[in-house]
Amino acid sequence: MLKPAGCFTINFMQLNLCPKCESENIVKSGIVKDRQRYLCKNCKYFFTVNKLGKHIDTYYVIKALQLYLEGLSYREIERILGISHVTVMNWVKQHKIKAPSTNEYRPSYKIMNHTELVEHLKKKENLTRTGMLITELGDKFMVIRWERFKK
Ligand SMILES: [Zn+2]
Repeated sequence: MLKPAGCFTINFMQLNLCPKCESENIVKSGIVKDRQRYLCKNCKYFFTVNKLGKHIDTYYVIKALQLYLEGLSYREIERILGISHVTVMNWVKQHKIKAPSTNEYRPSYKIMNHTELVEHLKKKENLTRTGMLITELGDKFMVIRWERFKK
């Protein structure tokens, strides 16, 4: 089951938590192919993420605008992408994006590895009556899902 929105307060891009066990007990453990590697001291899991430098890639601009259009709040976008809500607000202004005022979708998030993602997509019921956005996060994937709420 996907976690309901709001339960997921993890900012993976800023790496406060281990993507496997969600422990905060992580340490930097070298650079691998231009990516910072971390070690979780709790479960001994190694993971890497793309370094988010001063220059923010267009990838994140588009991702942030997508999330905004899908009805996520600035704070949620900040949490997911690790980009300050002020920056996201500026992008929205700059690109003249206007989200519909009534949005019946509610997002939920889940982090999966590639195998889990493939298994998830194999099941047709996971793809019906729902919108989905898959974003690469380090060596894992984040699946954001929107289900239409019945009134
Ligand atoms: Zn861990």
